[in-house]
Amino acid sequence: MKSITVARWFLALIGGFIATAQVFAQNPSDPTFPIFSVTGNTPASIEVGSKMGVLVDNDKSLSRQQALQPGQAWQTITRKSPNFGFTDQPHWFRFQIENQDGQDVQRFIELPIPFIDDVQLYHYAGGVLKTSYALGDEKPFEQRPVKHQNFVMPVNLSPGTNQIYVRLASSGSVEAPLRIWDPVRFHEASDTEKLLQGGVAGILLVMIVYNLFVFFSTRDINYVYYIAFVASYMLFHFTLTGYTFAYLWPHAIRWNSFAISTFIASSAVFTCLFANSFLKLKQFSRPAHYGVSTMTLGSAVLLIATFFLPYNLTVRIGAAIVMPVAITALVLGYWRWWRGAKFARFYCLAWTAVLVGISILSANKFGMVPANVWTENASQIGIVMLVVLLSITLADRINSDRSLRIGAQATALAHERRARASQEALIRGKEDANRKLEQRVKARTTELNNTLDQLKVANDMLQLLSRTDGLTQIGNRAFFDSALNEEHRRALRSQNPLSLILFDVDHFKEINDTHGHLGGDACLRALANLIRPRISRAGDVFARYGGEEFVVLLANSKLENSSALAETLRTEIENFQVEFEGKSIRFTVSFGVAGGVPDARTSPQEFLAAADRMLYQAKRDGRNCVKSTSVALSTAPQTVV
Ligand code: GH3
Ligand code: MG
Ligand code: MG
Repeated sequence: MKSITVARWFLALIGGFIATAQVFAQNPSDPTFPIFSVTGNTPASIEVGSKMGVLVDNDKSLSRQQALQPGQAWQTITRKSPNFGFTDQPHWFRFQIENQDGQDVQRFIELPIPFIDDVQLYHYAGGVLKTSYALGDEKPFEQRPVKHQNFVMPVNLSPGTNQIYVRLASSGSVEAPLRIWDPVRFHEASDTEKLLQGGVAGILLVMIVYNLFVFFSTRDINYVYYIAFVASYMLFHFTLTGYTFAYLWPHAIRWNSFAISTFIASSAVFTCLFANSFLKLKQFSRPAHYGVSTMTLGSAVLLIATFFLPYNLTVRIGAAIVMPVAITALVLGYWRWWRGAKFARFYCLAWTAVLVGISILSANKFGMVPANVWTENASQIGIVMLVVLLSITLADRINSDRSLRIGAQATALAHERRARASQEALIRGKEDANRKLEQRVKARTTELNNTLDQLKVANDMLQLLSRTDGLTQIGNRAFFDSALNEEHRRALRSQNPLSLILFDVDHFKEINDTHGHLGGDACLRALANLIRPRISRAGDVFARYGGEEFVVLLANSKLENSSALAETLRTEIENFQVEFEGKSIRFTVSFGVAGGVPDARTSPQEFLAAADRMLYQAKRDGRNCVKSTSVALSTAPQTVV
């Protein structure tokens, strides 16, 4: 069972052996019952190692007497070290110690495997049972002859040969690396060993407390896994080396009988949890994540099972899963590192240190590397390095996470600054655009107002032009029409009389024919200029009605007065002459006058029509005369001269 052997070596992490000189006295007569010689000057300790006889109690039935009887099948131990792996068969061992002094010599027989259930020692001298012990980790600690984490059994060696029989039975593994100690040297060596283990315990405790504080400030769950792992491993280590039974729970026999399994399982649980969380496997690789999660679950189930199932079963399972878990944790670390996760480098270093430690220890046990204080304590050195390096790993990752965060923050800040700058630029641009727009609107408004002013002037001019006759510069027909409507309304309101004088140049065609069109124009202008000053009362209007036809509107003027005015004008024109191109042009004008107080039935058109009728009358009556009519209620026209 290769895995069992490897696992057993993992269990043997304790190390803690003191380099010893080996003294082996060959017994040529019986190699299954070797003799070790001691005197007062014998070196501090004798390592019995594999130089013993072994008797396996296959039926678990041998009594002491039976085992000691001659004829039993004692054998030599062929393996390099007296380890027999997981076995529930009791193993008997025997060797002899020859006391070459002439007096009793006290020696300690030490079994540095604290987790053996049942340890019995029988010391014979001269065929008499001199000392016997029945010890084991299932007996209260106080019953031990020497209060030590290992089984230490004092024997008082008589002069001559002494026979030592040791019976070991356990539900775990059976190992019998027995040593013979000078008591004083034993205590010295034990003190050194305790100092070393105390140092390891101190370092681990400091790491636990330190990382607990770090956890309180960072609230990073990885620290919890780490602390739980270190605590589990520490308890595993000190239970395996017997210290917890000696110092922490000397009365808890039942608990002590399976605590190793419990701590192996919890170490595995927290190794998996730590690897999963620290290496961020979920984001990195789903299969790896599920694989490690499965391992976590399996270890957790085992952890619970250690309280209910037999130790010999749970410790075998525990030993079997420990190496796969450790190797998985290591391989995933390197994989992660290889794929660019820099924070995994210390993690890898840490697990490498512990695995190298275990390997060196194993190699040492198999005699592949020389035994010295470094190789003997490789596992302790490895675990201290693991714990310290893992702590550095965590700190390293906090640092790398922080620098990532700071980098991200800086980038975010830069982005924000850029965003703000462009926002400000945008606002400035907007303000600028607004200002420009305002300026342009103002300019355009000014322009528009100017244009409007110009338009008004132009409009006024146009209006004036539209109301003025171009040739004569007096009002035109449109002007006259609106004036007539207005004066008619006013006269209607005030019931004052209104008169209209319509006059037309006689035979104007002939003037045109005789003097040309320009001659005609000159006459029209001269006529307008002649009449204009005569029509100067407010409310009176003089306009060119069309062609050579003119009209005068007299507000507040009775018909007879208007007729009289027309007569006056007729006379004046008759005596008037126009100078054109050295020639005098004379002409006469016919007048039609209409007047009266307007009422609802007499429209402005009525006045015009009446005046026009009178003008027609005047033309018919021979021209150069005035005809007038009243527009008032009387229907028949009333003609005056
Ligand atoms: P009557 O005595 O019946 O009014 O005869 P008349 O020739 O004056 O009448 P008619 O209406 O037949 O002719 C008017 C002429 O006046 C015709 C036209 O050529 C001329 N005339 C109209 N407006 C102007 C103008 O502004 N300038 C000139 N030179 N001639 C004009
Ligand atoms: Mg005419
Ligand atoms: Mg005419």
